[in-house]
Amino acid sequence: MSTTLESPPQPAEKKVEETEVGNYFVSNYPPFSFWKPDQVPVVEGVLARPAPTDVPLGVYFHIPFCRKRCHFCYFKVYTDKNAAEIKAYIDAGMREMERFAKQPYIAGRKAHFVYFGGGTPSYLSVPQLKDLTSRMKDLVSWDGAAEVAFEAEPGTLNEKKLTGIREVGVTRLSIGVENFDDHILESNGRAHRSGEVDKAYHFARTLGFEHINIDLIAGMMNETWENWKDTVAKGIALGPDAVTIYQMEVPYNTTIYKQMREEGKETAPVANWQTKRDWVSYAFDEFVKNGYTVTSAYTVVKDPERIKFIYRDALWEGADLLSCGVASFGHLGGVHYQNQAEVGPYMQAVDAGQLPIFRAYETSHEERFVREFILKLKLGHSEFGYYQEKFGEDPLKFFAPQLNYLQSEGFAQLTDKDITLTRDGLLQVDRLLHDFFLPQHRQYARYT
Ligand code: SF4
Repeated sequence: MSTTLESPPQPAEKKVEETEVGNYFVSNYPPFSFWKPDQVPVVEGVLARPAPTDVPLGVYFHIPFCRKRCHFCYFKVYTDKNAAEIKAYIDAGMREMERFAKQPYIAGRKAHFVYFGGGTPSYLSVPQLKDLTSRMKDLVSWDGAAEVAFEAEPGTLNEKKLTGIREVGVTRLSIGVENFDDHILESNGRAHRSGEVDKAYHFARTLGFEHINIDLIAGMMNETWENWKDTVAKGIALGPDAVTIYQMEVPYNTTIYKQMREEGKETAPVANWQTKRDWVSYAFDEFVKNGYTVTSAYTVVKDPERIKFIYRDALWEGADLLSCGVASFGHLGGVHYQNQAEVGPYMQAVDAGQLPIFRAYETSHEERFVREFILKLKLGHSEFGYYQEKFGEDPLKFFAPQLNYLQSEGFAQLTDKDITLTRDGLLQVDRLLHDFFLPQHRQYARYT
């Protein structure tokens, strides 16, 4: 039976103008700051259970290496590892996956989707990539996987590398373009330049990837309206299947924040939030004029019938994710977990024959309902009947104050069956989602 979420929140401030340090992007729920080391044994309990027959399984492998650290990067990345160290890391990752693969909960299941994230997966050489993927496939079969996604940095993508990526079975290539202006790329610490994007993209197109996505960032340091318009035009001219556009954040553990602290500044040297939203809105309009469809707060897609985000959608709907590698985030049987965040402790745990999990969180039925509802609100539209059927909860009642607030502020249109975010609501959905958190998660929420 549905109840109403207690302690309706104060309305969020309408505009957060300046970009200050911190994360507001909601990538999971409950927030990572609530995941705890004392819940790690719960993951072991899940692994001892029989394999479910009705939950899709994804496999994630994390590659923490990059050529250079971007000034806005908040991930733990390594820019100084040699081939022997990379091999040792892959060996550890495969020992970790082997431990998982033998457990009753995983044994015999096939991957519905596979994801290589980082860091920079395309930093691996072709032999390293072939070694990694053939060992992974021996542990958890990818036969018939609906999607094999791979993140790539343009400067690492020569013809040989792209051919190797295609040969190991990648179907979705996501290229981190970010911007087409070399001065902006350089001043934000990116390792690649725009010429490398063109070459990599056009060669990749000849290889038959089913889905090529490019990432852009609205609001990199030194961005201007004029340059952003040029970047959007160049993105359209490339003609990717999908474009993902993020609004620049400045989390604490970035080079930009370090510099701000040294200079005693509170405002980050990037555009304010309204300007970033205007830039994304402009990009959405231009892509739509050129045949694309806006499919979420961050994505435009050329052919929504054909081009899907299987990894994202399956995870948001509660799929299992067997996640291996340093700092990676997984989810098994309703339990979130994250691995050790530094390579040293990660490798030591694997060498000691343990799962290298650092913190975990067992979600309740109510938390899983809230999680799915808020994550899928990023798609811009939700039908309440879906949640009634899946969770026995009516979002219209449970989130009554929050939904009415969105409607009254012009962020959404509400009927008794569904909610549709307006463009204004869609472009600041992450800020608005914090009001949908259960009361115990509204304070101390951190996303890193
Ligand atoms: S390429 Fe990505 S992971 Fe690597 S440093 Fe830049 S932002 Fe971070």
